Amino acid sequence: MYRFFVILFVSFILKHVSGSEVQTPKIAIIGGGIGGASASHFLSKLFNNNLKIDLYEANKIGGRLATIKIDDNEYEAGGSIIHSKNKYMQEFAKLLGIEHRPTSEQTFGIWDGTEIIFEESGSQIFTLAKLIYKYGIQPFRLHRYIDSILTDFTKIYDLQDKGQFFTNVTSMLAAMNKEFPELLHVPFKDHLLHLGYGEKLIDELVSAPLLVDYGQTTNIQSFVGCVTLSAASGNLWAVKGGNKKVPEHLIYRNGNVNVMPSYVKKIRYTTTNGFPMYEVHYLNEDSIDTIKDHYDIVILATPLTKDQEMQIAFEGIPMDSLKFVGEYHTTVATFVKGDLNPHYFGLEEELDTILSCNSTTRINSVGKLETVEGLSNNKLKMWKVFSNATLPSDVIHSIFVNVNEVKEIVWKAYPEYSTNVRLDKFKLYDGLYHINAIEWAASAMEMSAIGGRNVAILAHNEFLKKFVDKPDTHQKAPKVEL
Ligand SMILES: Cc1cc2nc3c(=O)[nH]c(=O)nc-3n(C[C@H](O)[C@H](O)[C@H](O)COP(=O)(O)OP(=O)(O)OC[C@H]3O[C@@H](n4cnc5c(N)ncnc54)[C@H](O)[C@@H]3O)c2cc1C
Repeated sequence: MYRFFVILFVSFILKHVSGSEVQTPKIAIIGGGIGGASASHFLSKLFNNNLKIDLYEANKIGGRLATIKIDDNEYEAGGSIIHSKNKYMQEFAKLLGIEHRPTSEQTFGIWDGTEIIFEESGSQIFTLAKLIYKYGIQPFRLHRYIDSILTDFTKIYDLQDKGQFFTNVTSMLAAMNKEFPELLHVPFKDHLLHLGYGEKLIDELVSAPLLVDYGQTTNIQSFVGCVTLSAASGNLWAVKGGNKKVPEHLIYRNGNVNVMPSYVKKIRYTTTNGFPMYEVHYLNEDSIDTIKDHYDIVILATPLTKDQEMQIAFEGIPMDSLKFVGEYHTTVATFVKGDLNPHYFGLEEELDTILSCNSTTRINSVGKLETVEGLSNNKLKMWKVFSNATLPSDVIHSIFVNVNEVKEIVWKAYPEYSTNVRLDKFKLYDGLYHINAIEWAASAMEMSAIGGRNVAILAHNEFLKKFVDKPDTHQKAPKVEL
């Protein structure tokens, strides 16, 4: 009898430890944006290419990194600017042999809805003098403060190199700086007032980048507020040929990834021999009924709030694991071929970029565009306008003259940030993970890349614990270099 149990035990261990089907995890990634691409890249490294990934994408690989074609030129339509300190975006570009397109120096002005209240001048010294005259030394103090936040933020890279993972967003932020989670619950304006900054600076210099980057006001939570200002004070670049090249190359060049051009409708949790097993139900171009496939691990690389166009149903998972509260902000990107009408902004001559600091204006920003190859045409100028709603034709024709062409893209762009207490989780359930939880701290390409790596380390670690290694809750995954 004793021998019988030993044989049963050994065959069970062999099945789950050395059986090839279990050692090689089968993973579904749902979403082919930069988050899903990052996860597929880091998972392949962690599992030493001993894995199978089906990456489901219902639309285009790249997601919110997309271009728009006007005439024969392409322009960035979604995520367009990358900070020089965004380590993963830099490393992906290097790894993939992708060229940088430095963003050109543009003259900008801040508009309060009636007039331009701050205008950059051709000379840097003159611009600095204007800043000091208007706001004193506060902009420089703010710059130092934001730099210190950025320094703490970059600790995440070391932690991830050491194999550290986080099951929720709050614990990830706390590992960078113990005070970061608190920033999620304080309106940015209150935070800055508390630090001694003046209303004028906040309502003008701080408000403008928040409106252009997130379409939101200084009531936004303070962590995303700091992230926004860090972008306003760094060296910026973009990918030559379009930022979408990064996810495209990361996904298509990875031999472990099988791209499934399909819409995932449902995820069902079940178990086999006590181990988690997920059924992914999907529709593709050729199918009328949903098809299903089975996976050890499922990674959701897309927002899951109720306002998203493509909803996913869940079955067999407790409801409290699946709370996706809040909504995404609608941002409209309008592309106009024509000339800017400077009088609309109280100007005599046009500027390259105008940022509104007043949330009641029709537009949040307007900026002259270069193609994704870095070319601009001074005869037929292209402009991109960001607004919170579709612009009526008469508004377009009062902002522009000689209008040749107008195109519009409506985005569910980024979270609508508030200071409500929330606990956004990377680990939703056993073997089920969510990258976009990170967007509730701040939404940016680099944030999704960091979220993708976190989920990859987490999934790898938990898989090893379950099937191969001894259970050790503090065990870290091996160090991985890009
Ligand atoms: C207008 C705009 C401007 C921005 N500007 C910047 C910027 O300058 N700098 C910056 O860093 N960031 C910027 N961002 C934010 C940045 O683009 C995003 O944070 C980032 O691209 C999100 O990537 P993701 O992979 O997490 O999600 P997404 O790119 O949204 O990818 C999710 C993918 O999942 C797919 N999908 C969803 N549901 C399903 C389903 N059920 N089945 C199959 N597929 C599904 C979608 O089609 C999508 O392709 C901007 C965003 C917008 C919209």
